[in-house]
Amino acid sequence: MKIPSRYTSPGVPFFIPSTETVPTVQDIHTALQSLAPDTLAEPWDNVGILAGSPAQPVHRILVALDPCIALAEQAVKRNCDLIITHHPIIFRPIKALHTNTPVGAFLAAVIRAGISVIACHTNLDSMAKGVSNALAQGLGLENIRPLVPSAHSCADQCGLGSIGTYPHPLPAAELIQRLQRFCAPEWLLDAGNRPESISRVAVCGGSGSDLAETALAQGAEVYITAEIKHNVARWAEEVGIWLVDAGHFPTENPAMPLFVQHLHDLLHSRTWTIPIELAEQEAPLRLLWSPTGS
Ligand SMILES: [Zn+2]
Repeated sequence: MKIPSRYTSPGVPFFIPSTETVPTVQDIHTALQSLAPDTLAEPWDNVGILAGSPAQPVHRILVALDPCIALAEQAVKRNCDLIITHHPIIFRPIKALHTNTPVGAFLAAVIRAGISVIACHTNLDSMAKGVSNALAQGLGLENIRPLVPSAHSCADQCGLGSIGTYPHPLPAAELIQRLQRFCAPEWLLDAGNRPESISRVAVCGGSGSDLAETALAQGAEVYITAEIKHNVARWAEEVGIWLVDAGHFPTENPAMPLFVQHLHDLLHSRTWTIPIELAEQEAPLRLLWSPTGS
């Protein structure tokens, strides 16, 4: 949507047609289809414009992992009129909107403030430069490809999870140091046998327990993910893969600044020079106690 900019000279107001443009929510969502197309989302997911008006002009965008009340408050304070989250605010169909629930309160707050909401969830996971790819890059892996290639055709390789290699085997302790540096987790859990050195690593940001067998089948010596289920941890002991659980938020959130950069480049390529900000969020789970007192 084009808007004229108003300029004034002493005493004489006049308009100069401007090349500056302001996109609508729909414009942003349409542009996102070339970065993280909705068609890449899993069938059970809920992505796209989830709240607000597609026709609303967008002047400032706030990007975050989690939709929560504190995020709505940040968006209001920062004068943002579009929030893009990784996790969708509406996941299962809702039959009623009660503002004394977290979802209802979030939606009421954003609607009241004229803020629209887009979710990029498993489509952001699956895009070529998505969440797991960011984690694999952050660990310094090479020859990175998706762990489960998408059934959809993509210009670049896309799909869930990532697997890559180190040209020279890496001591396990060095891999853990890299994980600590990139994800800054408050804790790490592991299961199965820790190898001396590692050449092939599979990763999946977020809850990736279900891809552990795929990681093993593709020759990964270690699989880094979050929310590893008890039976999968026990299975790892039997089959000889090393599992590392670094937490849901820490394995996904480092991808958000990269998403902001990709979105910035995308919007600039369409001559939309609106600011894109990254929200301040922390992991909801903290380390309460450990036997070593750390
Ligand atoms: Zn997630």
